[in-house]
Amino acid sequence: MFEYAPAPESRAVVDIKPSYGLFIDGKFVDPADGTSFKTINPASEEVLAEISEAGQADVDRAVAAARKAYDKVWSKMPGRDRAKYLYRIARIIQERGREIAVLESLDNGKPIRESRDVDIPLVAAHFFYYAGWADKLDHAGFGPSPRALGVAAQVIPWNFPLLMLSWKIAPALAAGNTVVLKPAETTPLTALLFAEICQQADLPPGVVNIVTGAGETGRSLVEHAGVDKIAFTGSTEVGKAIARSVAGSRKKVTLELGGKAANVVFEDAPIDQAVEGIVNGIFFNQGHVCCAGSRLLVQESVYEPVLASLKRRMARLRVGDPLDKNTDIGAINSAAQLDRIRTLSDIGGEEGAERWSPPCDLPDHGFWFAPTIFTGVTQAHRIAREEIFGPVLSVLTFRTPAEAVEKANNTPYGLSAGVWTDKGSRILWMADRLRAGVVWANTFNKFDPTSPFGGYKESGYGREGGRHGLEAYLDV
Ligand code: NAP
Ligand code: MG
Repeated sequence: MFEYAPAPESRAVVDIKPSYGLFIDGKFVDPADGTSFKTINPASEEVLAEISEAGQADVDRAVAAARKAYDKVWSKMPGRDRAKYLYRIARIIQERGREIAVLESLDNGKPIRESRDVDIPLVAAHFFYYAGWADKLDHAGFGPSPRALGVAAQVIPWNFPLLMLSWKIAPALAAGNTVVLKPAETTPLTALLFAEICQQADLPPGVVNIVTGAGETGRSLVEHAGVDKIAFTGSTEVGKAIARSVAGSRKKVTLELGGKAANVVFEDAPIDQAVEGIVNGIFFNQGHVCCAGSRLLVQESVYEPVLASLKRRMARLRVGDPLDKNTDIGAINSAAQLDRIRTLSDIGGEEGAERWSPPCDLPDHGFWFAPTIFTGVTQAHRIAREEIFGPVLSVLTFRTPAEAVEKANNTPYGLSAGVWTDKGSRILWMADRLRAGVVWANTFNKFDPTSPFGGYKESGYGREGGRHGLEAYLDV
């Protein structure tokens, strides 16, 4: 046996200012009415910085700045020059990757291993990828000289703060739009660092504007008469409200909403690999993933060995300090989210499902939830239907492929699914039948800027990523 030695990443590489203004027209400015809120480190509850809260007057100002930049500069600039800015931003993100990753883990609570190896490399990859499209829009298959839409209002959640920013800003700018983006209330810091990167890259003022605030700021932004396009990622509830509020307007909308993905394990799957995929599917990013594999469907004949192996693996997961390079599961992003996970998990117990977590010591401060599985779950249980958005897995079983499809599709959502089997023909058979925007085969939670991502049904509409992701920002 050995003593555990933590390997923490240094937080000295980040320079967090005591307070931040709004990023409008290339400058950090104070909000008109001077209101602010705090962002904290969810692993310690320590206050990280005071953040400006944008009101209606500030949103007006940001939209006006974006309009002016669109009319006077960005829409007139040749695509090859827009591309240069995007490449420059991508390279700065790579150069400052370590600093950005630490800041993301501090503000969000996710393990440094993920922010360093997944989030930030993907952010840079998105900017590189869309930089490549900026001067090739004529060849994207949308007809000759497709036009940008104008000013895009973009609202993003807290689970992948900078990654969601990149999914929104990179294609918008490549297509020739200007943007006003609102990050989530609990995770504004990397968006504000991104604003500094825009300054460093000499991006023309007003092309990117960042307005921090809570839901009300998001509402002012998406309802603003001066925006041409809305791109929203977040809950289905808010997505529906946005769809209602813009109905009948000329605004183009894309919505990336919730999910309740099935991860389907067939009896011929290699069990150890499948178990790694199950763990990655639900415990990656504390399960704060819209496409998380939150419903495990196991073929009855392998239920016992899969469960035994899954429990053994879960007992090895390290929960704790997000900055420790060994950490697998970091902090839950907020007290409110922790409360929601606890409530739904308690309901799972009351509904009669059997709850199991490995023994694990959770830190005294901050927001934590041990990795948890529920067995004996039926399709009627709320934990099988509702998105928990935490490290909680519901386990169900099936006998035949047809039953697996029926159960997998028995959800109001349709964002993603996983299939584990040795047979290529079965993968194709399943992929044809699963009503999900993304189907992973013998892997899970794999993302790439070239690949479109998006949902069916209550998971939203429109696609982000790839050539499809450009279409959402072009008048086609
Ligand atoms: P949320 O409440 O819908 O928040 C998402 C964003 O919208 C935040 O910036 C939020 O501001 C803002 N907002 C809140 N009310 C608004 C309104 N009335 N009008 C405009 N904007 C408003 O979602 P969440 O609970 O924070 O995030 C988790 C959800 O996002 C999950 O359901 C998850 O499935 C979904 N999600 C989906 C995807 C996808 O790609 N499909 C990706 C990630 C997450 P504040 O947070 O600052 O209040
Ligand atoms: Mg925070």
